[in-house]
Amino acid sequence: MKKLLGGIEAGGTKFVCAVGTGPEDIRAEVRFPTTTPAKTIGRAVAFFQEQEPVTAVGIAAFGPLDPNPRSPTYGCITTTPKPGWANTNFAGAIQAALNVPVGFDTDVNGAALGEWQWGAAQGLDTFIYLTIGTGIGGGAMVNGNLLHGLIHPEMGHIPLPHDWEADPYNGRCPYHGDCLEGMASGPAIEDRWQKKGQELPPDHPAWELEAHYLALALRSFICTLSPQRIIMGGGVMAQPQLFPLVRQKTLDYLNGYVQSPAILADIDRYIVPPGLGNRAGVLGAIALGRQAL
Ligand code: ADP
Ligand code: ZN
Repeated sequence: MKKLLGGIEAGGTKFVCAVGTGPEDIRAEVRFPTTTPAKTIGRAVAFFQEQEPVTAVGIAAFGPLDPNPRSPTYGCITTTPKPGWANTNFAGAIQAALNVPVGFDTDVNGAALGEWQWGAAQGLDTFIYLTIGTGIGGGAMVNGNLLHGLIHPEMGHIPLPHDWEADPYNGRCPYHGDCLEGMASGPAIEDRWQKKGQELPPDHPAWELEAHYLALALRSFICTLSPQRIIMGGGVMAQPQLFPLVRQKTLDYLNGYVQSPAILADIDRYIVPPGLGNRAGVLGAIALGRQAL
């Protein structure tokens, strides 16, 4: 029998908690807004206590966070500007309350693991999962392991070429201004065009510019990590016209240099939406729980 697992998708605006064994078998799910750590983590604990007991829990959380089990601050959200959450020992609180193994990683590493287990990255050993939403983040599996390294990747904060004449927008990253997240996150689109992404028509120039920045970033990720596939999720990627634009521009900016048929002949299967759709986050958390077992 498959072991019952718990997953917590901990986002900056909402939490999703679920109990199950995989995509075909989610037995209970709850979502609630992210408020103070005590209240929000308390609600997650209460949810799991009401369910059939789980054998492990995975937490896929907003960051920055400390995913290194050998570090004294392991399990903590570290330096977030989110009020009250800096230095919160999230994994420790869940472990203490439920007394089961706890997996703890970034939301995007979790989503990457879920996609590897059940979604668009099955059978691969090196790929990235990007989310383009309120922020931009990337998770990576490299040679079969989730990439942590020094802390964890921060793919949203790479610098990009910025043509100030074509796009005079300053960018909104508090640390870097016009980094990738500063230029291409959902809030950056809203700031630049004074309208939310979901309100802009599909032929609006915003999407050409958005695809331009995303493709510049993909070129960098392809050249540094050599991913076998790139999965792109998050609210902004719900615009279906973005995928063809991003694929074409990525080909243009690579300019034939990376000589793989996966890119040159099969770009539609190289840059893809999440196989798990909008459940990538919570299933990723469950996958982290499974790994913790
Ligand atoms: P979060 O990053 O908080 O987990 P999302 O991935 O849904 O949540 O990202 C929210 C951002 O995505 C917001 O800035 C919102 O304007 C933008 N967004 C949501 N839906 C769409 C859509 N259909 N088209 C374009 N942008 C969208
Ligand atoms: Zn930045």
